Amino acid sequence: MNLDDAPEQAALRAEVRAWLAANAEPRVRTSLDRAESPADIVRGRDWQRTKYEAGWAGLTWPERFGGAGRPLIDQIVWDQEAAEFDVPEETFIVSTMLAGPTLVDAGDEGQQARHLPPMLDGRAVWCQLFSEPSAGSDLAGVSTRAVKVGGGWRVSGQKVWNSGAHYADWGLLLARTDPAAAKHAGLSYFLLDMRAPGVTTRPIRQITGARHFNEVFLDDVFVPDEELVGAPGDGWRIARITLAHEREGLAVRRRVDLAAFLELARAATVDGAPAAGRADVRQEVAEIWLRAQALQLLNYRVLTSIARGTSPGAAGSVGKLLGAALINRVGRLSVALQGPEGLLDGADAHDGGRSQYAFLDAVARRIAGGSDEIQRDIISERVLGLPRRSQ
Ligand SMILES: Cc1cc2nc3c(=O)[nH]c(=O)nc-3n(C[C@H](O)[C@H](O)[C@H](O)COP(=O)(O)OP(=O)(O)OC[C@H]3O[C@@H](n4cnc5c(N)ncnc54)[C@H](O)[C@@H]3O)c2cc1C
Repeated sequence: MNLDDAPEQAALRAEVRAWLAANAEPRVRTSLDRAESPADIVRGRDWQRTKYEAGWAGLTWPERFGGAGRPLIDQIVWDQEAAEFDVPEETFIVSTMLAGPTLVDAGDEGQQARHLPPMLDGRAVWCQLFSEPSAGSDLAGVSTRAVKVGGGWRVSGQKVWNSGAHYADWGLLLARTDPAAAKHAGLSYFLLDMRAPGVTTRPIRQITGARHFNEVFLDDVFVPDEELVGAPGDGWRIARITLAHEREGLAVRRRVDLAAFLELARAATVDGAPAAGRADVRQEVAEIWLRAQALQLLNYRVLTSIARGTSPGAAGSVGKLLGAALINRVGRLSVALQGPEGLLDGADAHDGGRSQYAFLDAVARRIAGGSDEIQRDIISERVLGLPRRSQ
């Protein structure tokens, strides 16, 4: 297998790296790409606009929608290079990874013309309003109701865990329009103006201390007909398009950067002696390193099939499961290697508390984008050929 860049990707990589070097600071160990405070969001919008003006936004989107019409491999190259710089990519993740590609695939001309340009140039931030208190893994069970009225729909219900909803301008909303229809058939897909009367957003404080996601309450919110995507009852089909783009985007962005961890492992001491001299530490570091190499190779396989337009199948689930487990393992050892100082946080801690943040944040990786148990279900059925679970 030849993992080197083809000449065109090597040229693109050099171009991307030179542009990033001229427009951003190199990433340092303490850099965290957070999209949480108003200042983070202003920075995220400015960065999106800067990218757009330079032609780096919407790399894989069709040119007629303001994108660059490039192949997925170019996006991978961009993401690999951007990971080396302190750039705020997080604010526009849902907009460019989920909302835009969904509207390119399933939106009508009006929706595409209204919504795609502001996503690319930094004007409109989007969030995903799918999960509910009783519908997460079992997403087709959403109970938020949309009732037909003159000129549109009235929506009431509650969503939860919605990343960035507290600053988003628009949301991708899955709601039930036909309670009498079979579970999957009764859903519809709407584009929701987050400033519409009746939308209340309450940030949820996470274990890291961040307020990254939210509860969203919808109280008789009016959504005009023109913001229904597809036909009534098409919601499940279109939600699956969004989820496929989410899986693909997560695979493109999945990487385990061990540089800071290895540096810490080399420098750490236990009872005054180098931690790296201990058999149990060496064993765990070696195991983590090996798993990271295997994960990277698996990810290349997943990305190759996505780039060829074929489904990676259960390999995507294996990558998601192993990636989340590895991030948790790195977090645990990074904090443990600091001994009692591992209990410190923020400015008092090693590297400004980056390991502590990563350690706590890693828990969410086992849940977001499909939980460990759901990935195991998929692997057991599609790879191991075990019988389907009973509903
Ligand atoms: C960081 C983060 C960001 C998120 N951002 C968004 C967002 O922007 N928009 C949005 O809509 N949602 C978002 N989510 C929600 C996410 O999609 C859900 O948390 C996820 O789908 C799991 O659903 P749930 O939380 O309802 O858990 P549940 O589905 O209730 O699961 C609870 C537990 O039961 C297990 N379980 C469930 N079903 C089965 C089964 N059939 N077999 C075995 N075990 C099972 C699960 O694995 C889990 O351990 C986010 C979540 C996180 C952690």
